[in-house]
Amino acid sequence: MKIAFRKLGSQPLLFEENSDNAIFSGDLILKKSNLAQLNGTITGSISIPCDICAEEVERSLNEEISFYLSDGIYEGNDDELDVVEISQSMIDMEELLKSEIELIKSDYFCCKNCEGTSLDREF
Ligand SMILES: [Zn+2]
Repeated sequence: MKIAFRKLGSQPLLFEENSDNAIFSGDLILKKSNLAQLNGTITGSISIPCDICAEEVERSLNEEISFYLSDGIYEGNDDELDVVEISQSMIDMEELLKSEIELIKSDYFCCKNCEGTSLDREF
């Protein structure tokens, strides 16, 4: 799903993007002429290797996602903003979801088997 930046306005524009079992949904709202805010959640699950035994397990997701999108180079001076610059005035939701999933995958993760013996297995 690709969204043209010029379609954004002060009314939230809803989006939904899927990748395998992950679902990214939320809305986009225009803040300034070239700056939009994305608020969403990633739910569902992804297959992710355990950092200890490397076995792929399905990890359920419930991630709150919030960042800004800049149409072109962001020239604001607010360093605290988490800004993603987009090119050609098109917001590629699939690409955004993929990069969020990569971020989640880069977090430390270990499977139930490696977490210790006190936990009941889910599978
Ligand atoms: Zn493991």
